[in-house]
Amino acid sequence: LGGLVLVAVDGDLIPVQAFTSTDPGEGKKKLVVLGTGWGGMSFLKQIDTRQYDVKIISPRNYFVFTPLLPSVTNGTVEARSIAEPVRRMLSSVDFYESECVNIDAVNKKLLCRDASNVRVKGKEDFEVDYDYLIVAVGAMSNTFGTEGVKEYCHFLKELEDAEKIRESVVDCFETACLPHLSDEERKRMLSFVIVGGGPTGVEFAAELYDLVSEDLASLYPSVKDLVTVTVIQSGDHILNTFDHRISKFAEEKFQRDGVTVKTNCRVLKVNEKDVLVKEKATGQEVHVPFGMAVWSTGIGTRPVLTKFMKTIGQTDRRVLATDEWLRDDIAYLFEKADIDKSGTLEIEEFQRTMEKARERYPQLEVYLQRQKFRHVVDMVKISPGDAKEKAMHLNVDEFKKSLAQVDKQLKLFPATAQVAAQQGAYLAACFNALPKKDYKPEGPERIRGEGRHRFRQFQYRHMGQFAPLGSEQCGAELPGDWVSIGRSTQWLWYSVYASKQVSWRTRALVLFDWTKRLFFGRDSSR
Ligand code: FAD
Ligand code: MG
Ligand code: MG
Ligand code: MG
Ligand code: MG
Repeated sequence: LGGLVLVAVDGDLIPVQAFTSTDPGEGKKKLVVLGTGWGGMSFLKQIDTRQYDVKIISPRNYFVFTPLLPSVTNGTVEARSIAEPVRRMLSSVDFYESECVNIDAVNKKLLCRDASNVRVKGKEDFEVDYDYLIVAVGAMSNTFGTEGVKEYCHFLKELEDAEKIRESVVDCFETACLPHLSDEERKRMLSFVIVGGGPTGVEFAAELYDLVSEDLASLYPSVKDLVTVTVIQSGDHILNTFDHRISKFAEEKFQRDGVTVKTNCRVLKVNEKDVLVKEKATGQEVHVPFGMAVWSTGIGTRPVLTKFMKTIGQTDRRVLATDEWLRDDIAYLFEKADIDKSGTLEIEEFQRTMEKARERYPQLEVYLQRQKFRHVVDMVKISPGDAKEKAMHLNVDEFKKSLAQVDKQLKLFPATAQVAAQQGAYLAACFNALPKKDYKPEGPERIRGEGRHRFRQFQYRHMGQFAPLGSEQCGAELPGDWVSIGRSTQWLWYSVYASKQVSWRTRALVLFDWTKRLFFGRDSSR
């Protein structure tokens, strides 16, 4: 999201210290899932509850079909139509509406807090034990420390956010119609600013433009000409994670529509009535007044994960990293590589580390070769004796840098529902297969070189991505480098998103909302 500056905090799922507390003969294993979003629900729908004692912990007792969230902001789709209660989807598992605030991986205990508004005083917190833990808490909107964002901007991440935006847009129009405002105030009220030109920001801008031009213009004739929509993007182009044809089409469409796109601009600060923007090229700072601003620049790590990552040695990263089986992390392995803590990796240390790493990350070697790190690969082949003679040392920073590269290229999937759902389904399949055959522990033991994984690695299948651009226009990147743009693509979008609904109930509701809009327009009451 937001141009993927940040990487998939979303989508990363790991069973923490899985496979270590095998207790054969003793009842079912306790399996706890954190989160009821794309990853969590996809896992839960497929996990065999006859084999595990499953508990779900999430502050939301419903699943949200996030791709349609932007449509909620302008009332094309109602909020309730894209939410499905967890208890409806899963009947044979325990659900606790609460937030996990601490993960104690050593004692396998979670500290949870009642997340509802109705609480029993003094009994907000409770503990939950687990044998296996699935972390699928997703990410949260990231302000990148920009002052004023939390106070004055809307986010577009949760269902409540979308509802608030919808209310706020209509509110701006109504306020702009009040008789005692000056023209300048009226203009500011109807200035909508979107920070972030990624898929979410762009889709929201497009939806907003549709709402204004198709519905509100006729309802608010006196002020309709004062409306401005501005997208502020830090990069050269909007939708820069998409094919350039789609990105170009979007920019041209916005230009025709009169949606202003300010590229190469950074927001320095958000004030109550304007954003302070710095143009990168000229260094000039300008104030852009707004009636409503939406902040959609990217995602960040949830505090509970940041805390947990520290305890498992994944310190300076934003993403809970996992291996190809969605467990553990490569960086951790290499932190341990410098056994004598000399600050450099002697050849033996390096070789030992590489051997372990190669076994876990078969692509590592291919990558290193391709990336002109050949010398690194060659070093592994030198026998320790030779190496001593040559007295080769490797700077840890250099080494880490190249590994960070490997990390980035190989394991970070985009932060999308598609990835999260596939990871959830993959893990459920692994867990379902686990107890069936005689199973040898494979966690840390495997790193020591004993035993092999029984499961194939997680493989992401990219099914393409859509970029709805408003006015029944849509861009799509489909598998096989196929790009399509236009009205027919919008119909493809409708059919894909209708079919992807998680239940017949939400499917019916969404279809009904679309049909309703077609005949009666969008509802403009707030
Ligand atoms: P989430 O779906 O965010 O789920 C996280 C869950 O964890 C939630 O239930 C949350 O309540 C819960 N939780 C949070 N904190 C805690 C805690 N401390 N303890 C327990 N539970 C907790 N992706 C696409 O592929 N296509 C799209 O078109 C698309 N459009 C999008 C549009 C918008 C507006 C947004 C915001 C996202 C969109 N995405 C899209 C991205 C997609 O929604 C995410 O990548 C996906 O939701 C990630 O799944 P997840 O399971 O990791 O996290
Ligand atoms: Mg989830
Ligand atoms: Mg979700
Ligand atoms: Mg979307
Ligand atoms: Mg609640």
